[in-house]
Amino acid sequence: MTSILWLRRDLRRADHPALLAARDAADGDLVVAYVLDPALWSSAGPVRRAWLAATLEATARDYGDALTLLWGNSRIVVPELAKRLGATSVHVTRETTPFGRRRDEDIANSLAAQGVSWLETGTPYAVGPGLVVNGTGTPYKVFTPFARAWREHGWPDPAPRPRDLPLRHARNDADATRALRDALTQPDLPTLPDAGEEAAHARWREFLETGVTAYATDRDLPGRDGTSRLSPHLKLGTIHPRTLLADLASRRGTGKETFVDELAWREFYADVLWHNPSSAWTDLRDALAGMEYDEPADAIEAWRAGTTGYPIVDAGMRQLLATGWMHNRVRMITASFLTKDLHVWWPVGARHFLDHLVDGDIASNSHGWQWVAGTGTDASPYFRVFNPVTQGEKFDPDGDYVREWVPELAHLAGKAAHQPWEHADGYARGYPARIVDHAEERREALRRLDAVKRGT
Ligand code: FAD
Repeated sequence: MTSILWLRRDLRRADHPALLAARDAADGDLVVAYVLDPALWSSAGPVRRAWLAATLEATARDYGDALTLLWGNSRIVVPELAKRLGATSVHVTRETTPFGRRRDEDIANSLAAQGVSWLETGTPYAVGPGLVVNGTGTPYKVFTPFARAWREHGWPDPAPRPRDLPLRHARNDADATRALRDALTQPDLPTLPDAGEEAAHARWREFLETGVTAYATDRDLPGRDGTSRLSPHLKLGTIHPRTLLADLASRRGTGKETFVDELAWREFYADVLWHNPSSAWTDLRDALAGMEYDEPADAIEAWRAGTTGYPIVDAGMRQLLATGWMHNRVRMITASFLTKDLHVWWPVGARHFLDHLVDGDIASNSHGWQWVAGTGTDASPYFRVFNPVTQGEKFDPDGDYVREWVPELAHLAGKAAHQPWEHADGYARGYPARIVDHAEERREALRRLDAVKRGT
């Protein structure tokens, strides 16, 4: 009897409960498959496509070149594969996004009609979305009580890495291998991190040795390499958060506790999306219903290109374009600039981020944006307008981050890089003038908020 493991956001062998379940069910062969579904593939953008392609290459090696690559609508391809192989079960890690849930329900029904079992084991999270609820069984709406309950709920130990698997390679689709090859040879791709499970573990070990102790302070300084950079790996599941939490269990200190809190944010946003599928692209809370937004125009092009004239904003947007990643503090600053200084509705910015981020993730991205925009889980919302100059001076006090990404400001020493307009030679190397006046736009943002509150 053949069983199929259909990989999605779980491209690894270690700590993989669904792989163990598929192996145990296979009374014969185990086929491990990945489906490139054009619906997801075409919406991913070149950076995420390349990252997925590189990760799949590494995953195929980890599975002894027995990873079967398929191309097409998963609703058709997966039942067809099961039929072709005469498989008795299809195993997956449970998907929790709105798209994935709808798709999986349809596929489970099709397989049931063919007499094939559909088995979900584990999720991409330490605690499956939907499982952390309060005493009355309702989901948490605010992070801090969620994180407390999430820690109390706890998670299982990592699953052992299986050695001998009865792997069988089914035929690859030529369209799938071609799409992956093309994805890796696109022009102007940023240099991506090392891909695959081994690289994820190497990065994690490095961060455990050199980064986690000072994480609580360094994580907010974009000029330092103070964060784990694991987000692209967590996104594709080359490492599971359970593994990270197990490695941290014996450690003490604020660095470790802050890092666990950040993992909890990822879990919180997945949980929020689980309970509110429409918050992927619309306001989670309707507190700002009726808010007047501006249509994206020239200003948004300047934001996208990193030419707004505000150094920390431009540094972040250029880091995103050049590397496919942006520091968390700067994600908040650039998101605030788009929503509060340019008065653009958050999904426009969220789309741009998803198009360019290597770690682009619907739950963390949309709710990260909504946290800043004031429509999300943060209780003190729209009137928090980040000042790009004071934020820059506080979190990039030596100006190193700005100078790294904005060469037109490389001649300005220290924090002078945050205010070129204060220096006679500030614009000597062609840095653009400010496209808006922050103080004026802050007043305008608050005026619009006031109008929403008054219902005018
Ligand atoms: P570390 O600081 O090392 O944190 C470890 C892990 O914790 C991260 O890899 C991530 O999985 C999780 N984490 C950390 N901070 C957050 C957070 N604020 N929210 C949710 N999870 C967090 N993260 C994504 O993975 N994908 C996205 O598409 C994404 N979009 C964002 C958009 C905006 C507007 C904002 C403000 C934040 C967004 N984040 C997103 C969260 C955060 O910026 C990144 O997870 C983090 O910068 C990744 O770098 P790191 O792995 O070095 O993080």
